[in-house]
Amino acid sequence: MILGLSFILTSVVANASEYHTKYEWDYSKVKVVICDDSVYEPEDVIAAISFWEKENHTALKKVSKNVTVVDANSDHCKKGWKYGHILIAGPNGLNTSLYDGKCKYWYGGDDGKVVSAYIRIDNRAYDLKDTLFHEFGHALGLGHNNNNSRNIMYTP
Ligand SMILES: [Zn+2]
Repeated sequence: MILGLSFILTSVVANASEYHTKYEWDYSKVKVVICDDSVYEPEDVIAAISFWEKENHTALKKVSKNVTVVDANSDHCKKGWKYGHILIAGPNGLNTSLYDGKCKYWYGGDDGKVVSAYIRIDNRAYDLKDTLFHEFGHALGLGHNNNNSRNIMYTP
C-alpha cells in the first residue's frame, strides 16, 4: 500500500504470475477520476491503464478508459471515495518525507471486495510515471512483489 522513496525502477519485466492479487473489485465498470490538484493529466492515467492492460491483469477489464477531471474542492476529492471509483489526487496531508505515493481502499459487503480506491501522489516523487503505475496496480487490488526488482510492484 505504500511506496518508499527507495523505489527505483529502470524497466519493467514481469509476467502476470508475479502479480499478487490481494483484493478484487466489486464493480463491473470502474470509473477513474482525477482531482485537479493531482500532478497527472488524463493521458498519464490512460497510459497507466494501458500498461496494466498489456500486463493482462484480469481486474483491468473492469476499468474504464474514460478518465475525468474534477475540482479538488468537490465532495468526491474531499472524501476520497465514491462507490465504483478510483480517485487520483495530490499529496493532501501525505507524509511526503516517507512516501512517494499511497493507495487506500474501501471495502463493501461481507465478501471483502473493493468498492473504491484513492491514490495520492507527492508531486516530488522520484519517478512520477513509475509511481503512478505502481499505485494504480494497488488500486486494481495488487499487493507487492518482494522478489523481482524489475517488477513494477516490487518493494524491498
Ligand atoms: Zn506499494
